[in-house]
Amino acid sequence: MTATGEFWVKFWGVRGTVPCPGPATVRYGGNTACVEVMCGGQRLIFDAGTGLRALGASLAGQDGLDAHIFLTHTHIDHINGFPFFRPAYSPGNSFQLWAGHLAGSNGTLQEVLSGIMRAPLFPVPLDIMHACIAFHDFKAGEVFELASGVVLRTAPLNHPNGATGYRIDYAGKAVCYVTDTEHREGELDRTIVELIRGSQIVIYDATYTEEEYPTYRGWGHSTWNEGVRLCQAAKAGRLVAFHHDPDHDDDALDAIAAALEQASPGSVVAREGLVLYP
Ligand SMILES: [Zn+2]
Ligand SMILES: [Zn+2]
Repeated sequence: MTATGEFWVKFWGVRGTVPCPGPATVRYGGNTACVEVMCGGQRLIFDAGTGLRALGASLAGQDGLDAHIFLTHTHIDHINGFPFFRPAYSPGNSFQLWAGHLAGSNGTLQEVLSGIMRAPLFPVPLDIMHACIAFHDFKAGEVFELASGVVLRTAPLNHPNGATGYRIDYAGKAVCYVTDTEHREGELDRTIVELIRGSQIVIYDATYTEEEYPTYRGWGHSTWNEGVRLCQAAKAGRLVAFHHDPDHDDDALDAIAAALEQASPGSVVAREGLVLYP
């Protein structure tokens, strides 16, 4: 059980695009996006990348689990851990899955996730998961009160096929999860500035360096430098560089961490196992 006063963030997968385990990524980790937030006695999981498998393993032996899983979107790196989330196979557990980018045009969230657990892609169908699973499609921009004092704000991001940014407010503190978004050079994204305004922790899409970015314009990702600019404009606290390019090995991420610390003291590069308190 968790105390209701707790508010923490734990990183289970910090990569974008594709898992990249191996000796060159052992310190920061090779799993794709998955972040756990605990607040007000609620377990909130952001994205279901391959990090979700290890998160599920950490919950082994607990019965009656009840958690929300919020997806930024359904590109494969953000859902490829879902079929391997073992607690979803146990009756007695209950999960609410949410997505804000589909809005009917690309099918429902339930249809998309059923689609990756279907022949010839996967051996067993989604309904072999015996937990109670509810699917919610909403429109990015909606606000939800998840429990007493736990407020979740959402906002649309600039990403191919759409994506949703999140902000969790609890006990006077706020954590933001803003990944899979592309900036426009020389122009701050006002939607993001408003979403993250005054928050303590901003997890942000730092896929590319500023040198790499021009090669990948249009792929829907950003840089840690843009994250620093957004946090400064929004008077937000520490930036957490996230959604690392699979070609950025541990040494490359060490170099980014050093540059980030200089530009914004206290800001960090996300790695698997990192726990932060807002
Ligand atoms: Zn991604
Ligand atoms: Zn994406």
